[in-house]
Amino acid sequence: MRRKGNLFIVSGPSGAGKGTIIKETLKSNDDFKVSVSVTTRMPRNAEVEGVNYFFKTEKEFLEMIAEDKFLEYAKVYDHYYGTPKEAVLEAVERGDSVILEIDFQGAVQVKRNYPEGIFIFILPPSMVELKNRIIGRGSETDETLKKRFLSAFNEISYIEKYDYYIINDVLEDSVYSFKSIIEAEKCRVMADVKEILKMYKEEE
Ligand code: 5GP
Repeated sequence: MRRKGNLFIVSGPSGAGKGTIIKETLKSNDDFKVSVSVTTRMPRNAEVEGVNYFFKTEKEFLEMIAEDKFLEYAKVYDHYYGTPKEAVLEAVERGDSVILEIDFQGAVQVKRNYPEGIFIFILPPSMVELKNRIIGRGSETDETLKKRFLSAFNEISYIEKYDYYIINDVLEDSVYSFKSIIEAEKCRVMADVKEILKMYKEEE
């Protein structure tokens, strides 16, 4: 049975562990792709163009907005971030499932434009633990750390827009939950009802 791929939207405060859960899941699941976003922020140490992000100037980003190149975009911590529309929609049409790791503002836009998306929210075990994780990453100044921490409270208040949540305490439990959601969504009846009925129609 041929079917479209699923579009998974993963959000959660910076430091909740979205990236780690996705990376671990990818090790044993090669049947989905992670969308590479466009951003105007500077690359961090080990980040690679086209792998972690497509790094653009603000002028280039604004041109892409004008050309309707984004499925969604938002300003997060003073920089623009956006999901390239064409690559994602083409992959889903082809039958590949795609993961977007985006903030809540972007998720709200995707929900409007692509309501059949599956929305997953990753939470830290506590706000104290979140703060420790962001500090532990060592990539933030005092000012950006404070900004990220404060915006975490705001981000969490949008959880009601999502279909699933995972509290990321023990990583392997979180990965198991994440994979289970992906597997369950492959068996959703509504997505395939016509195809299923066609396959099992009475022999003439
Ligand atoms: P970071 O700067 O740590 O890589 O990402 C900061 C925040 O931007 C994260 O919460 C991340 O989920 C979000 N983000 C990354 N790419 C996109 C995107 O394409 N669109 C939106 N709306 N948010 C994004």
